[in-house]
Amino acid sequence: MKFRLSGAFGELSPVRDGRPHTGIDIAMPEGTELRSICEGVVQRVVDYGHNNIGKGVIIKGNDGNFYIYGHMSKIRVQKGTYVHDGSFIGLSGNTGHSTGPHLHFGIQAPNGHFIDPTSTFDHLVANSGNNSIGGALWERFKDVHGANGVKDNAVDKFMNHLATDLSHWCSVKMHEFHDWFTWALPDMVGYLALISALSIMLFSIVDTKWVKRTIGGFAAAFIAAVGYLTYN
Ligand SMILES: [Zn+2]
Repeated sequence: MKFRLSGAFGELSPVRDGRPHTGIDIAMPEGTELRSICEGVVQRVVDYGHNNIGKGVIIKGNDGNFYIYGHMSKIRVQKGTYVHDGSFIGLSGNTGHSTGPHLHFGIQAPNGHFIDPTSTFDHLVANSGNNSIGGALWERFKDVHGANGVKDNAVDKFMNHLATDLSHWCSVKMHEFHDWFTWALPDMVGYLALISALSIMLFSIVDTKWVKRTIGGFAAAFIAAVGYLTYN
C-alpha cells in the first residue's frame, strides 16, 4: 500500500481538543499529487493559515455531498472548476493545524453532517501520487505553460478532460498489468529455476561464453523476481 491511514473517522484526540475527527487522515509526503474522487464543481478553496485544515479544497459532488481535502501545500483549482474522478486538484502538505504531512479528507452531507469516508480510502490512495505517465506529463506541460489548472476556453476544457481520461485509462491498465505480473511471477520464478538448472547441465557439457552469459542472465532475472516477491 502506497499510503497509510493515520487517523480514523470519529477518533477522539487531544490534538483536536477532544472533538471527534470529522474525516480520515492519510499520511503522505508533502507534495503528493491529489486528485478528485468524484465528479462535481469546486465549491470553495480555503486557507485557514495555521488553523483548522490550512489550505483546502471543497468539491460539491454531483451526488450532493461535499468532498473536503485539507492540509494541502498547493491548490491547482479555483471556485467553479469542474472536476472529474481523477482530476488533478493540487499537492498534499502540512498546512493548518497538523502534526505531520498528511491529507485530511472528509465528506459532508448537504445537511451538514459528516459521513464516514473510510470506504473511500482505497479510491483516494489510487488517485493520489504520481500514478500515471500521462497524468505526470500533463502536469509538467501545465507547469511549463504557467497555467494553474483553471481552464476557461473550450479547447483547454477538452484537453483537460482528455488528459484526465487518458491518465485514468493508463492508471487502470498499469494496475491491471501489476496485478497480472504479481499473479504470474511465482510461476515465472519456477520456470526460471528450471531453465537455469538445464543451462547449468548444458554448461557442464559445452563450455562456451554464450552459455555462461545465458546462465548469468537467468540467475539475475531469478534473483530480481525473488527479490520482488519478497519485497511485496
Ligand atoms: Zn484529519
